[in-house]
Amino acid sequence: MNPLLKGVYDISPVTFQNWLLTGYSAILDRERYGGKFGAFRKFMAEAQWHSRDELKELQNEKLRLIIKHAYETVPYYRRLFEALKLSPDDIKTQGDLHKLPLLTREDIKRNFRDLISTKFNPKKLKYGHTSGTTGSPLEIGYDPTVVYATYAALDRQYEWAGCQLAKNGDRIAVLRGNVIVPLNQKKPPFWRYNRMHNQLLLSSFHLSPQNLPFYLEEVKKYQPTVFDGYPSTLYVFAKFLKNKGEKNPLKAVISSSETLYDFQRETIEESFQCRVFDYYALAERTVFATECDRHEGHHLCMEYGISEILDEKNEPLPAGKTGRLVGTSLHNYGMPLIRYVTNDMTALRNHACSCGRGLELMDDVTTKAEDTLTLKDGRLISPSVLTHPFKPMNSVEESQIIQKEHDRVLIKIVPRKDYTEADTEHLIREMKVRLGNEVGVDIEMVERLERTGSGKFRWVISEVPLGI
Ligand SMILES: [Zn+2]
Repeated sequence: MNPLLKGVYDISPVTFQNWLLTGYSAILDRERYGGKFGAFRKFMAEAQWHSRDELKELQNEKLRLIIKHAYETVPYYRRLFEALKLSPDDIKTQGDLHKLPLLTREDIKRNFRDLISTKFNPKKLKYGHTSGTTGSPLEIGYDPTVVYATYAALDRQYEWAGCQLAKNGDRIAVLRGNVIVPLNQKKPPFWRYNRMHNQLLLSSFHLSPQNLPFYLEEVKKYQPTVFDGYPSTLYVFAKFLKNKGEKNPLKAVISSSETLYDFQRETIEESFQCRVFDYYALAERTVFATECDRHEGHHLCMEYGISEILDEKNEPLPAGKTGRLVGTSLHNYGMPLIRYVTNDMTALRNHACSCGRGLELMDDVTTKAEDTLTLKDGRLISPSVLTHPFKPMNSVEESQIIQKEHDRVLIKIVPRKDYTEADTEHLIREMKVRLGNEVGVDIEMVERLERTGSGKFRWVISEVPLGI
């Protein structure tokens, strides 16, 4: 939502907010499900049954097209190819990709403008933000086509889960990061409706032992057939049901954006009496991976991008070996990202899925191993929702959130050169929007952030015991 619309939304009565959300969804609908969406959906419905070799060849064809496009119209890549004395003919298949260097977040930040194709008007591109696993924000430009491809992949995930993501499809309860209910609101409704998409939008910021009974009452009334959320928020709700000795049967639960741990999956599946379908996606739109009903791993959407798993020397790893996930978009002609390095770790699986699809299988991805914050009033705040304030902040190199007391959080910032006092103000304001005014937010500038003994980085560390 743009700031003006958000301003109107915030001061509107609940019924008008519901109306605004539904109207806003109608706009999003065109961007996501208009244009080439239908063609992508059809293409992906067919391609999933292709053999592995056919899918690899399909990827190679698309790779050659985007490489040529990048060379001819993207200044960053033209320079790179010339410096390496390469021509597009040198990159014919995935096996040739190693000739090009990896593309890091830092490369994108430094060369943002030069990564945009001259064929596109930068003002007409869409821009997305990601906070990444270290709370280090990044902006990405993309053309409308990749949005259609992304929603086609998501739509297929819903279909694999036996559900329908459409106007007249399933009734979906959503537990994600949008601030849809003011924080100072202490009484229900802690939810809003998006009638365009058949969605009950539940606030992720009011989840507390006191408020959860109201959520449950509303869920029983609304009777969703699907829950869609972050593993941490879904787990809070599922655990609440479990503690009450209740179950709320659904067709499926869809989770994403965080590592889904086995204990979370078990509790969620038990409380909702259905399977969890977890998908992995990136705001950078280079990798999309979804679970089929066999749950033998995440199927890489090979029609969407090319994935590589690399070791610490950037050499490709065989199936079964865990390494860094690197992705190349096959559809983002506005800002081609070739060999983009994620901070996520995974491995390809040795075996093909028993479902018969040719799409490669990948292990669960280890992304953020973060803690959920527990606040004084009992509210439980998912780490994923805390990424949102950081997304537009290009002046932050890295960040970390530490909670030692119920009503206080410390944010450590590794600033970039252009970091100013206004950034601190933005951060405190946006954190209070999500945590509440009564929670103190301290900001500390540091030169670097601590890694744990195993070298893993934890973005959110809470020393306050979880209140459920
Ligand atoms: Zn499968």
